[in-house]
Amino acid sequence: ATPTALMVGTGRGAQLGILIKGPEVLESTRLVDTIVLDKTGTVTTGKMTLLDVIPAEGELGSTVLELAGALEDSSEHPIAQAIAKGARDEFGTLSQVEGFANVEGLGVQGVVDGHAVIVGRARLLADWSQALDEKLETALAQAESAGRTAVAVGWDGKARGVLVVADAVKPSSARAIAQFRELGLTPILLTGDNARAARAIGDEVGIAEVIAEVLPQDKVDTVKRLQAEGKVVAMVGDGVNDAAALAQADLGLSMGTGADVAIEASDLTLVRGDLRAAADAIRLSRRTLATIK
Ligand code: ADP
Ligand code: MG
Repeated sequence: ATPTALMVGTGRGAQLGILIKGPEVLESTRLVDTIVLDKTGTVTTGKMTLLDVIPAEGELGSTVLELAGALEDSSEHPIAQAIAKGARDEFGTLSQVEGFANVEGLGVQGVVDGHAVIVGRARLLADWSQALDEKLETALAQAESAGRTAVAVGWDGKARGVLVVADAVKPSSARAIAQFRELGLTPILLTGDNARAARAIGDEVGIAEVIAEVLPQDKVDTVKRLQAEGKVVAMVGDGVNDAAALAQADLGLSMGTGADVAIEASDLTLVRGDLRAAADAIRLSRRTLATIK
């Protein structure tokens, strides 16, 4: 490989809105046959808004939002910020939280107004023997089937409500995924979110293969498993929880709009957070290396 041609390749990358860590990255880019895409913040905007509050039988929606909002105000998660904002819009100021704890990939817990509150996946509440009643089960299932994210709220030993949040698919995602296919790549959607919501988003953007309900620490194992099957894997992500998988992938791509650790762990950064730049990068690397040979 002639260094000059590779330098031209990386220079052209900058024009396309792609930051390339070094010229050697172009070689792995060329060989990729599978592209794993994180859902939240990568395929979707990651800017969530609170859509609905469903109280359990005998509970008040306002109490559910008030306690959940106060708790989530201590979390950086996009779901948490949507819930905290929804609560602040409704109540102004929020109560203080004591003993806040984040349970990675599952939710949060802490004491608000003297109540031990949990917000997160139904699985997290189940760990504390807080089963959802029929009304909550139905609300959760309906929201998820529509591609939304629903989290449960419980306190003092009982599930008390469901909160529905949603973010929008980026306008460019479906087009980018069509381009990956044209380049011969198999797209896979990977997320910690529930299977129904993931399936709905997959359908919306044209991804047949969906791997959902993956804990943050298990994302890297998904990449390893695909590599063990002989795949050359590109991983695209934006979050703190994607960093290990980005480093493990044959080619790690981060969103310029994402977390610093994700950017550091990646080989390529899509400056504007537009997935079409990933297709451009692959096309560019194939063309650049074809010129050299
Ligand atoms: P993703 O892979 O989509 O970025 P995460 O691994 O961050 O998702 O989270 C997985 C799931 O855990 C979320 O969809 C949500 O159900 C739950 N969760 C995580 N953090 C929180 C939180 N702060 N509040 C409520 N639910 C949460
Ligand atoms: Mg993400």
